[in-house]
Amino acid sequence: LQATFNELWFLPLGGTGEIGMNMNLYGHGGQWLMVDCGITFDSPLVEGGERHDVVCADPRFIVANKAALAGIIITHAHEDHIGALPLLWQRFKVPVYTTPYTAEILRRKLARTNSKELVPIIEVEANQRYDIGEFNVEWLAITHSLPEPCALVIRTAAGTVFHTADWKIDPRPVTGEAFEARLFKQLAKQNITAMVCDSTNALREGHSLSESDCHKGLLDLIKGTTGRVVVGCFSSNIARLITLARIAQQTGRYMALLGHSLQNTVSAARLTGHWPEDLLLQDPRYMGYLPKDEVLVVATGSQGEEGAALSRLAMGTYRDLELEEGDRVIFSSIIIPGNENKIEKLLNALKGRNITYSLSENSPLPIHASGHPHKTELQQMYQWVQPHIAVPVHGEEAHLKANAEIARTSHVPMQLLGKNGDLYILAPDPAIRPSAVSTGRIALAQ
Ligand SMILES: [Zn+2]
Ligand SMILES: [Zn+2]
Repeated sequence: LQATFNELWFLPLGGTGEIGMNMNLYGHGGQWLMVDCGITFDSPLVEGGERHDVVCADPRFIVANKAALAGIIITHAHEDHIGALPLLWQRFKVPVYTTPYTAEILRRKLARTNSKELVPIIEVEANQRYDIGEFNVEWLAITHSLPEPCALVIRTAAGTVFHTADWKIDPRPVTGEAFEARLFKQLAKQNITAMVCDSTNALREGHSLSESDCHKGLLDLIKGTTGRVVVGCFSSNIARLITLARIAQQTGRYMALLGHSLQNTVSAARLTGHWPEDLLLQDPRYMGYLPKDEVLVVATGSQGEEGAALSRLAMGTYRDLELEEGDRVIFSSIIIPGNENKIEKLLNALKGRNITYSLSENSPLPIHASGHPHKTELQQMYQWVQPHIAVPVHGEEAHLKANAEIARTSHVPMQLLGKNGDLYILAPDPAIRPSAVSTGRIALAQ
């Protein structure tokens, strides 16, 4: 299975028709290019099957064809895009292209699997172009919910793909540059064959909140708390952590990070210039000695993960800090479907100890902003880019269908709706060859 020089193919192995574990391939001129290599946590390999801690897409097709694999691009540092690479790279052994923050996160992961020295990482700055085998790839800075998110323009002799990766339109993203519409408007003049697009929030009306909108919501909540404040937050969301550190300054509190993954992402952000020098963090060991109204801790474990800092705080088993009545836990995050029971257990533990909590799902104030485009943003992007074909990815069937419908009403002439393992022929004659390769899921041990 190989595309010729007048063909351009797209072949998703993971993430299309399911949530998480993104793994995409582009085919042209006898070569393949991989875009992202992610994982999902606590999932079964087949519907209804036994759950595994770490799961990724079955890479067997591309492992069997690795001689034709020109390289791997990681679009950003979220686990559903980067997580499987340290564990699978040995099976591919090709160079990895990514931006500096993502590269730093990757190197730290590789160090844990003792493969840091082996993997050639080529660091790319936003708005640069690279030739990777038969593919000419341009990185376009976009906005999402972590540092250095990038979309890709993949040019070949047979056609050009605009691969959005994860994105939203955020005019005030707190960290990094504001969304720049100009970069995407100019694509209309470049005859984009296909736009391969994030479908996560295609069922949601309107426009996503800006990351900066969370400042007011979090500030109001924290100002109104006389006891300690604990915030549950995704450790990758550096912008949210910057917002919280600013609020700590404004409200006379000291901020500390509880949990290894938070400390790791902030140190990577510091090293790559994404953490403002004036925002100081305290050693978590001192937090137990401070007056209650001077404490703001950010903790890992907003999904109720057992053993994470937030669970231990709720159970009263965290060594350096004991919560009590009058303290408040703020979930500056969402409940990821599948984690309801674990989160319920965490909330019950807090209730049992009379600790107040706020969930973004029923907070009247904005305390969380999604990193994915709602309907209006998707419409806007289709109207700017004007691709010939829309290819919805990154979501379950309902999300993909909703995204395709938005493309149709935004005057994109063709939508290709498929799933993992389908071969999307983008050029010269667009079509889908269903189940062209066998895919599935494999369990990974970390
Ligand atoms: Zn993402
Ligand atoms: Zn994602």
